[in-house]
Amino acid sequence: MKRIGAHVSAAGGVQNAPLNASKIGAKAFALFTKNQRQWSAKPLTTEQIDQFYKNMNAGGFRPQDVLPHDSYLINLGHPDEVARHKSLNAFIDEMERCEQLSLPYLNFHPGSHLRKISEEECLNFIAESINQAIDATTNTIAVIENTSGQGSNLGYRFEHLAYIIDKVEDKSRIGVCLDTCHTFTAGYDLRSREAYDKTMDAFEEIVGFQYLKGMHINDSKPDLGSRVDRHHSIGEGKIGVEPFEFIMNDPRMDEMPLILETINADIWPQEIELLYSMIKPNN
Ligand SMILES: [Zn+2]
Ligand SMILES: [Zn+2]
Repeated sequence: MKRIGAHVSAAGGVQNAPLNASKIGAKAFALFTKNQRQWSAKPLTTEQIDQFYKNMNAGGFRPQDVLPHDSYLINLGHPDEVARHKSLNAFIDEMERCEQLSLPYLNFHPGSHLRKISEEECLNFIAESINQAIDATTNTIAVIENTSGQGSNLGYRFEHLAYIIDKVEDKSRIGVCLDTCHTFTAGYDLRSREAYDKTMDAFEEIVGFQYLKGMHINDSKPDLGSRVDRHHSIGEGKIGVEPFEFIMNDPRMDEMPLILETINADIWPQEIELLYSMIKPNN
């Protein structure tokens, strides 16, 4: 079955995220386990962790239905060694928070070269950072998100994702999240059956669906190949409705978190309903 949800608020504590997800009719959700704009955070308390699990059970969420997202400040490919280590330590802390909550995944943007080093050097730093984070933790799966390629962000080519995965020693601890807006604005078309199949075939060939752990379900304000990351509500942007029907009826996306990061949180219940209504019988 399909597990559709949204990136919900964890204001007041992580234990509120499953409650907020239940309220909008979600069967999956994403959250920040700490303030995404700050480097450090107070450790999770036992009370918060217990309540998180009570609320997970009440909402019918399994750990694999949750796709925690890391802080926007983290750049595992930072050209400067001191800054890269700061990011690595923050990333390890985020992985530890996921482990405290018994959540299997941590979703992150690969990193940026800041126009100071080559793409290849930056990808090598990212892979090295991931290996170090994996060594320092027990079981979190690092889920790389593909990007639009805005600014100097890497991860906009499927080859970037494959390159990083290839260099990660423990393949059981690495995965991928495809964001539809990022895929499209990076130049991979989704807007016809033929285009969708071509893009997904390329993903299978270059990365492999065995690494796909979740998706971000967003329409796009900017056009195909614009390399600009601006999400839009489903059906309101340049991607349109049809590609989401393809996803909703694609068994390769079964049983993984499919997360809305669309711009108007007020209509998430309707968007989730719309996406579920696209599923044809036998799918
Ligand atoms: Zn995303
Ligand atoms: Zn985005």
